[in-house]
Parts: sequence; C-alpha cells; structure tokens
Amino acid sequence: MLVSEILNKNRPTFSFEFFPPKNAEASEELYQSIRMLAPLEPSFVTITYGAGGTTRELTRDLVMRLQRDNQLTVVSHLTAINATKDDIYSILQKYHDNNVMNIMALRGDPPRGATTFVPCENGFCNAADMVGFIKNKFPDLCVGVAGYPEGHPESRNRLVEMDHLKEKVDAGADYIITQLFFDNHDFFDYKERCELAGIRVPILPGILPITSHKSMMRMSDLAAGVRFPARLLKALSRTEDDETFARVGVHWATQQVLDLLHNDVRGVHFYTFNKSRYTLSIYDSLGLRTISKPFQS
Ligand SMILES: Cc1cc2nc3c(=O)[nH]c(=O)nc-3n(C[C@H](O)[C@H](O)[C@H](O)COP(=O)(O)OP(=O)(O)OC[C@H]3O[C@@H](n4cnc5c(N)ncnc54)[C@H](O)[C@@H]3O)c2cc1C
Repeated sequence: MLVSEILNKNRPTFSFEFFPPKNAEASEELYQSIRMLAPLEPSFVTITYGAGGTTRELTRDLVMRLQRDNQLTVVSHLTAINATKDDIYSILQKYHDNNVMNIMALRGDPPRGATTFVPCENGFCNAADMVGFIKNKFPDLCVGVAGYPEGHPESRNRLVEMDHLKEKVDAGADYIITQLFFDNHDFFDYKERCELAGIRVPILPGILPITSHKSMMRMSDLAAGVRFPARLLKALSRTEDDETFARVGVHWATQQVLDLLHNDVRGVHFYTFNKSRYTLSIYDSLGLRTISKPFQS
C-alpha cells in the first residue's frame, strides 16, 4: 500500500524507523525488535540508507525481506550521495518490480570531513531534484522527504530553507517526516511556517527517546544542530544510573507524543534505533495500542 493512501485513511498514523544491521548480533537485535513491534500494526516502517550510500545492498535486502515476510508497508530511504541518476534508476526499477512502492528521497550528508555537498557527476543536486526524477520515471511511487523543525545546518537562512522544502513538495513529495526535536514548540511553529509557505502535504514529527548518554552524544552528531532544552538536560543530570537516565528520556518522549496527539498531528514517526522496549513503553503509557486503527469519518 502507498503511504499516501495510509495517511488518507488513518489518523493518526504510527510509523517506525529501523536501520540495516551490519553483523549477525545486530541482525538478531533488529529481528527481535521487529517481532516485538509488529503486533502494534505500524502504519508503515522505514529503512535508512547508510551515510554515503554505504548500506545500499543491506537496505535493499532488508526492505525486500520485511515486505515479503512481515507483510509490512516498507519505505526505503535513498540518498543521492555517490549515486548517479542511472544508479538510482536501477534501484527504483528493482523496487518497482518487487512491489516496493514507497521511497524516502534524501540528498544525504557530505562525507565525513567535507563541509559542503558536491553532487556526483550525472547525479542529483538536492533532494528536490531526486523527487522530480522519481515522479517523472515512476509516477506511481509514493515519495516522502525530510524536514527540519530546528533548521537544516547547511541552510543559508530559515526563509530560504522553506523555499527549498516547497520545491520538494512541488516536485511531487507526498509527505514530510521531520528530524528529531525535543521541544514541541519547534514542531508546531514549523508546521505553521509550512502552512504559510503553502505546503499542504502531511507532516509527521520524528520522535526519539534519549536512552543513554552515549546515544545522546551520537544523536547530536547525526542530527547536527538539534537543541536539548535545559529542562530536559537538568532532569537527565539528576539521574544516577543508566536505568534512571533512560526512564527520564522515555518519559520526556512520552510527554512529547501525548502533546502532539492532543494537538491533532497527522501521525508520529518513532526513531527506534532498532530497539523495541522504549517504543513499547511509550505505547503502553499512552494506550496507543487501540488508537492506531483506521480513521472512521
Ligand atoms: C526523516 C529523515 C530521514 C533521514 N534518513 C537518512 C538516511 O537514511 N541516510 C542518510 O544518509 N541521511 C538521512 N537523513 C539525513 C539527510 O540526508 C541530511 O540531513 C542531509 O544533509 C539533507 O538531506 P535532505 O534530503 O533534507 O536534503 P535537501 O532537501 O536537498 O536539503 C539539503 C540542504 O540544501 C539546501 N537546499 C536544497 N535545495 C537547494 C537549492 N536549490 N539551492 C540551494 N540550497 C538548497 C537545503 O535548504 C538544505 O540546507 C535523514 C534525515 C531525516 C530528517
């Protein structure tokens, strides 16, 4: 099923992001998480693409396997890094032939050490360019794109960034999933700015619970520019062991989701980091197991 159809039918949607495992142990952890989370009947799941296109085959194999064996609606991330238009075309053709109809089109980050993005020869200059290509060659594919409530670190300014987001939507993007954020005001403000810019597609907030000091450091590298509110940092600093640290982080994320749902968001996208227990905890605290059913109009 296309994510755009799911977004029209279900309100709110709940979706999960996973990344392709790199070894047998990580693989076991991922499939265990999927076994635990599949009964929640996620609206769809997304599979990331390693920085620099490093997991191209791993991503493709995982996408195909999840769709085939778990009957999940799976979205494959694709980035423009180190990929020509021909490369992307052949990946899309393979997906299309195997009924993988949902793509998340991303430009990708410059390689480690580089500060600016340099397009590959015969590649894409930005995500909008890639969205236009996908919609032109495979009009029946559903395409999601990334959004940044706190701003993308490379943007010249926030006004211009909105113009670039609009370009992605005008090129055919069907929905937006946001970068993680820890203050819902940033999301609500972003949503309003999108409305002012004439962006009408669904915007799904990305939520990630902080569960350890290490993961907090890692995510601030991955989502450069992400802001940790002082209130959250103070609460985390009061904890004395890993277990309580995770409890504070999950509690914060739970409150974020509660507030987002109260404010009628179209859906919530969980960054699972291939772990099930924190997402399950949020579901149970908020009674979400019963509300992710088809929307009755
Ligand atoms: C939900 C989500 C999922 C992600 N998944 C992955 C993943 O699987 N793998 C991965 O490697 N990375 C992933 N990323 C990270 C993403 O690749 C980086 O943030 C990357 O730096 C930007 O990608 P983009 O698609 O947003 O790029 P773009 O939308 O192309 O924007 C990139 C920058 O260029 C600017 N820009 C856009 N168009 C123009 C233009 N015409 N002229 C001048 N400037 C322009 C934008 O304002 C922005 O600053 C993800 C991010 C999010 C939010």
